[in-house]
Amino acid sequence: MTFSLNNSPILGGQATNPRDPEISPEGPKETTPLAPEVVAENEKLVADWADKLYDATAKDILDWAHTHVAGKLVVTLSMENTVLAELAKDHLPGADFLFLDTGYHFPETLEVADQVERRYANNTLVRATALLSRAEQDKVYGVNLYRNNPTACCRMRKVEPLAVALSDYQGWITGLRRADGPTRATAPALSLDKTGRLKISPIITWSLEDTEAYIEEKDLIIHPLTKQNYPSIGCATCTMPVLPGQDPRSGRWAGNAKTECGLHT
Ligand code: SF4
Repeated sequence: MTFSLNNSPILGGQATNPRDPEISPEGPKETTPLAPEVVAENEKLVADWADKLYDATAKDILDWAHTHVAGKLVVTLSMENTVLAELAKDHLPGADFLFLDTGYHFPETLEVADQVERRYANNTLVRATALLSRAEQDKVYGVNLYRNNPTACCRMRKVEPLAVALSDYQGWITGLRRADGPTRATAPALSLDKTGRLKISPIITWSLEDTEAYIEEKDLIIHPLTKQNYPSIGCATCTMPVLPGQDPRSGRWAGNAKTECGLHT
């Protein structure tokens, strides 16, 4: 999308009067509503199966999804690892993959995305981007929005692009793990999101060690920073390495009270 200079407070490449970050750029920001009968179908699936799948294996959860969900599912990939891609290859054939390309990723993360596209050529990798480029965001909202208001930055570069990208799907597969931290300690394996779509988390019971063992067993693509004390990888601007034994997510928005990007809240 090209942001119209006529509608922005840009002068000479800088924001003279930065826009209120609570007001997102003009353009699509929400998920297209599902048909009422699909919402009803999803509600019934969750009512019937959420408790049964709470502690199920990744294989069983994905096999369940393949059998019981009639519509299209999309597998979200952060590229920190490619466990979900490999599981989906075997248990959810044909599912699309979705990567939120915020524009602030480490180059290594983008390289992993390219490798995923080559290795899993039977799956379409959808790259969802924000309405504004980094340069446009700097001009409209002021530089370093990720530092001044990371919640707004995540909303514009992650939450809203994800919402738009999910429009084509009946549900999405996430890499949530209860072991990732206190905010996720009781997360379900199967639930509904705000739009009535299925939110399916096949590795919800996995520990970091389980994940590492699976990566080794399947000889998966390695994100090089996971070997350099980055157990949880987000945008380069908002991710710090952590010491061994620390909460894996403590390097995300370090020094800020923020702990979640908003994708799962
Ligand atoms: S993680 Fe940081 S740079 Fe990335 S979208 Fe959120 S605030 Fe912006």
